[in-house]
Amino acid sequence: MTAAENQPDDDTLGDDLGAERTRAASPSDPGAPTRSGHPASPTTVGGHDAGLPELDPGQLGVGDMDADAFRRHGYAVIDWIAGYLDGVEDRPVLAQVEPGEIRGRLPAMPPEAPEPFSDALADLDALLLDGITHWNHPAFHAYFAITGSGPGILGEALTAALNVNGMLWRTSPSATELEELVIDWLRQLLGMSEGWRGMLSDGASTSTMLALAAARERTDLDVRQRGLAGRPDLPLLRVYTSEQAHSSVEKAAIALGLGRDGVRAIPVDDAFRMRPDVLADAIEEDVRFGYRPIAIVATVGTTATTAVDPLPAIADVRDAAVEELGHPIWLHVDGAYGAVLASCEEHRHILDGIERADSLVSNPHKWLFTPMDASVLLLRDPSALAAAFTLIPEYLATDDGDVTDFMDYGVQLGRRFRALKLWLVLRYFGAEGVRRRLREHVRQAARVAAWVEEHPGLELVVRPEMSTVVFQLGDEGAADPTEVDTRSRALLAHLDAEGVVLLSGTVLDDHHVLRLALGNLRTTDEHLDRSLAAIERAYRTVHGG
Ligand code: PLP
Repeated sequence: MTAAENQPDDDTLGDDLGAERTRAASPSDPGAPTRSGHPASPTTVGGHDAGLPELDPGQLGVGDMDADAFRRHGYAVIDWIAGYLDGVEDRPVLAQVEPGEIRGRLPAMPPEAPEPFSDALADLDALLLDGITHWNHPAFHAYFAITGSGPGILGEALTAALNVNGMLWRTSPSATELEELVIDWLRQLLGMSEGWRGMLSDGASTSTMLALAAARERTDLDVRQRGLAGRPDLPLLRVYTSEQAHSSVEKAAIALGLGRDGVRAIPVDDAFRMRPDVLADAIEEDVRFGYRPIAIVATVGTTATTAVDPLPAIADVRDAAVEELGHPIWLHVDGAYGAVLASCEEHRHILDGIERADSLVSNPHKWLFTPMDASVLLLRDPSALAAAFTLIPEYLATDDGDVTDFMDYGVQLGRRFRALKLWLVLRYFGAEGVRRRLREHVRQAARVAAWVEEHPGLELVVRPEMSTVVFQLGDEGAADPTEVDTRSRALLAHLDAEGVVLLSGTVLDDHHVLRLALGNLRTTDEHLDRSLAAIERAYRTVHGG
């Protein structure tokens, strides 16, 4: 799209206001303020001069952006995205701004009059990009590294265009049926048996909360109808998870009225896996004190170290307790990050025992190249979830027969068409392409682990099976362990300030450790070499070298 093509004819502008706006941003006055109070400037998008700001004819009426304007701005946006992704590695990976700095650049009041779309797009560059931490940067290795992939990004655009609300089957049969289909595709990728069904949500925190709501509903305590408050007839309800479980388990307990005391954290072994023997003892002790065990949450790929809890042994403990107590105990598996690796045959063992679980969460927005947000909750018996949440007011009643109305499976009524982007991602890469990419990240993690092992001042905390490397500083020359921790935190701070690579840290066994997560499709070995060199520089700085 050339600059000339971007200029609507003056006579297409409908009224004096439009003419005035066009004048305000005329080529002879490029510095005139935009409607947002910022100086107008030629919009440079994806390397092209997209022309001087103009209002679209449709902006002055009562309708939406017209098709021609949509095409022009749409091409500019796509151009912008392509340029952004291509050049993101040249930006600092962590936003280098002070709190409030971005807000301070923006007008406090909404614009009263319409503004040229290109002005807003230019402001994205000029005002907002500094405040973006670039998750799509090839040196983003913090938390879990993720990818907003090309097909996924385009899927998001199509979802917005269709703008369907998939609350009922009839409000878009394709949205419902595609959701059922992609979830079944994921089930097959993970090697799970037929019969699992599921749904998409915004994140693993929501998925886990829904699973625990189903677990609560499985009890005979009628919580759905009578609630939990003011009921002396109720025992204290307990959920078990490991000390290394994600905080979303506790948050779910908070939301479901079980409270943080409703979660018992089970100690882990020296590989940070839940200890089934301690779990068994904990359940037995709780029962003696009058608690009612309702669920166990095991993790496949813990947040700190990607540890895999021993599902078969945990399922054994669950079965024994159910036999003894005579009531159900739900087994939920949090595979938000790691479960997807089971799609590679040589790693399938990480889901050993999954057939004995009641639910599994796996987040395509973590390690399946799907842009935020997309989380899959798979259930062996979705009717438990429907029993918890089905509530059909007259204005939503239908007689469509044997169909899925996803509003029955959670608190959310309006639902995005998330399946579309996941469908495009899976079709674009194919199952074998997904596996190839996962293996590449595992290879990259092994490469980083080998670098750590060869480094005289660094130690591996655990040998990675997945794509996250956890390591720590050795204690050479340190007066005491606190000094090592101080250096470790200083190393992270140094990296943050330099902006070349982003790691994250956490605390394990009272020691600060560093995490380097792989998972971005744009990370090459050359990028990794640069990142490792930056870590080496930071290491030398904190060691005064
Ligand atoms: N479970 C695990 C193991 C995680 O690592 C995370 C986030 O990193 C979550 C759950 C929460 O995921 P979400 O942000 O999708 O709610």
